[in-house]
Amino acid sequence: MGTGILVVADSIEGRIRSTSFESTSAAARLVAKTGGKVTALAIGKGVSENARELGAYGAGRVLVVEDERLAGYVPAAHAAAALAAIRATSPRLVFFTTNAAGRDLAPRVAARFQTSVLADCVDIAFENNRPVAVRPVYAGKANLRVSTADDPAFLALRPRMFPAQRTGAPLAAVEPLAVAILPEMFQLEIASFAASQKKKVDLTEADIIVSGGRGMKGSEHFALLEELAGALGATVGASRAVVDAGWRPHEDQVGQTGKTVNPSLYFACGISGAIQHLAGMGRSKVIVAVNKDADAPIFGVANYGIVGDVFEVLPRLTQEVRNLKKAQG
Ligand SMILES: Cc1cc2nc3c(=O)[nH]c(=O)nc-3n(C[C@H](O)[C@H](O)[C@H](O)COP(=O)(O)OP(=O)(O)OC[C@H]3O[C@@H](n4cnc5c(N)ncnc54)[C@H](O)[C@@H]3O)c2cc1C
Repeated sequence: MGTGILVVADSIEGRIRSTSFESTSAAARLVAKTGGKVTALAIGKGVSENARELGAYGAGRVLVVEDERLAGYVPAAHAAAALAAIRATSPRLVFFTTNAAGRDLAPRVAARFQTSVLADCVDIAFENNRPVAVRPVYAGKANLRVSTADDPAFLALRPRMFPAQRTGAPLAAVEPLAVAILPEMFQLEIASFAASQKKKVDLTEADIIVSGGRGMKGSEHFALLEELAGALGATVGASRAVVDAGWRPHEDQVGQTGKTVNPSLYFACGISGAIQHLAGMGRSKVIVAVNKDADAPIFGVANYGIVGDVFEVLPRLTQEVRNLKKAQG
């Protein structure tokens, strides 16, 4: 039986994503109870320096596969690196991230062990010496508790569900992991990588989100949301109705067929609160809804509700936030 946890870190342009610090912390908390060590694996071009940080979040060992050709996600090469790390460390659990790359990588690796992945986990514990994961189902209406006897067991963690905590440990020394990155691994070639034009925190990593719905009446009015977001240091999101209308790009969509977000604070402005939207943001810690219809379903999940017109409420909210920030210096 394997011991410890291997965290397959996710990175972008040489930067380890915050979700990987969360996964490493979650792993460190688990092994504190069950024993074993946390090993993190960072894959990519120029990740080594940032990968050292994983040590400060509880990774006792940090393996790195550095390769010029792995600037982006290369499915077969990333899978080969993960498999090599599993062979090198014999973990009991392997953690991935529930995001675009993780949804592809985790099953590729698990399939080599003829098993599947417990995806989108929002909580993980050990019971009777077996991992038990909590996974939301039915668009977040219910939670499933799933236990597995797989060894190793493969789990993908939902971003922003597991707090990232520094342990007081120093930065780790990284160890290069030898993996043969072969030309045939590049059969699936990524022609180009279109980074978002906006220099903003991705919705899945954002601590504050200001989202707009059809009630915003047109793309030009999203400037109101951008202003509030600017004052709060937030990222702008949207409902599917808005994306379908072409007012905002798909990368901004929150919901069942968009992104799953978990910010500390979520503003839903002119959004009715359809179940498919709630599936993506219903776990936000504090929800503020602005809607002119007092019976809109969004008020059923909101912690704070403002019944009013977004065109009157949003400028006033933005001004109040600016005043508060000014008063705080
Ligand atoms: C398979 C499937 C997947 C889906 N996936 C998603 C998804 O990922 N994300 C998603 O969001 N939706 C998704 N949907 C669509 C979803 O069902 C809703 O149609 C959508 O969320 C509605 O968007 P909305 O709230 O912006 O628009 P509406 O439902 O039209 O609501 C607009 C709201 O704005 C309010 N309003 C209007 N004017 C003002 C004003 N001046 N001031 C204040 N409030 C005002 C109205 O009272 C209303 O409540 C999906 C649907 C299906 C079938």
